[in-house]
Amino acid sequence: MASETEKFFKEIYKTFKAHFGDAAKHYWVYDSDLCPCCQTWPIELMDYKGEEALSVNAYMYRDRGVMIAYLLCPACAEFIMAQPHGVPTAMHPTLEKNLADAYLRHLNSMNA
Ligand SMILES: [Zn+2]
Repeated sequence: MASETEKFFKEIYKTFKAHFGDAAKHYWVYDSDLCPCCQTWPIELMDYKGEEALSVNAYMYRDRGVMIAYLLCPACAEFIMAQPHGVPTAMHPTLEKNLADAYLRHLNSMNA
């Protein structure tokens, strides 16, 4: 993963720490090639106001005290950005479940 992106994740994590305090104990980066939202399209650069951009997001998985950072495919990113800010979309429950599942799989793979 590009170090620029890594840097960006750390910035987001700092913001989460400030907001959630001790509830955020660490962070994890969703690292599958497929978009965690639709699980259909690959995560790739999107065109944002004429510039190439990655849609970087984060979800606080409170049960595990982990902030999950993730990227979206251009289609999902555009859909979510088109919603009023801070309003969860109909996609969010699925998205958050997919992220939580991926994190648990990751934990299991480390214990194997
Ligand atoms: Zn998607």
